[in-house]
Amino acid sequence: MEQFRHSHSLGQNFLTDGNLLSAIVTDAGVTAGDTVVEVGAGMGALTRRLAESGARVFAFEIDGRLAEYLRPLEEEYPNLTVIMGDFMKADMSGLFEGKYKAVANLPYYITTPVLFHFLDDDRCTGATVMVQKEVADRISAPPGGKDYGVLSVSLRLSGRAERTRTVGRQMFDPPPKVDSAVVRITKTEPIGDKEGVMKVVRAAFAMRRKTLLNCLCSAGYNKESATAAITGIGRDLSVRGERLSPEEFSALAKFLQ
Ligand code: SAM
Repeated sequence: MEQFRHSHSLGQNFLTDGNLLSAIVTDAGVTAGDTVVEVGAGMGALTRRLAESGARVFAFEIDGRLAEYLRPLEEEYPNLTVIMGDFMKADMSGLFEGKYKAVANLPYYITTPVLFHFLDDDRCTGATVMVQKEVADRISAPPGGKDYGVLSVSLRLSGRAERTRTVGRQMFDPPPKVDSAVVRITKTEPIGDKEGVMKVVRAAFAMRRKTLLNCLCSAGYNKESATAAITGIGRDLSVRGERLSPEEFSALAKFLQ
């Protein structure tokens, strides 16, 4: 393809720096025995590095124009399968068996749903992903601050996250409007009944300026049991949801059950 017109709406900001690409694969700890899922292969820069590790790689790409770059890679690497299509609509159950690691330079318009997908999928053991710096801040935010929210709690309920590197916008072609960071999420045993806890968490953050009690009542919880649950975890009735740690949310959900 002579002149590729990048699609801004598909988040097409490609990486070209060989050292950075290798570093992402190293951060992810990908080895030959792994199965790896990549979201957004683009022109295959990261895909190629992943395939070179010897891992079994499944790379999704929504933009059909990139097929001519990606198909020849499949011939070069028999351990690579390129899936042209929307990752958000993909059914991975029939693709391969067993666990996988997710590695990607994510298209930023779907960062949050993709992260939730990996967090909720028991087959995913971890994700090493390039995200907007602002999302990396939310992921690692402690309780109480403006960045602390549903994503921060969800992550801490099913894993731990660390920022492995900060990446300036100039490292991408074309450069996006924001700086980025690579985060490595390692899944752990979930704390408590995650679905039940997340229902409470979503209610608590639905109206950030209101008290936790008001939020729970607005979400349909009975006032008496919400009051008992909040006092049961040792909190004052004026507390806002954003002050609670993931462990406190877990305890709150148990009281509300
Ligand atoms: N991996 C390449 C790299 O690092 O240079 C490209 C990364 S680029 C930030 C994100 C890629 O995701 C784009 O190629 C875009 O077309 C693709 N993409 C966007 N939405 C997608 C979706 N829903 N499913 C699969 N791929 C998608």
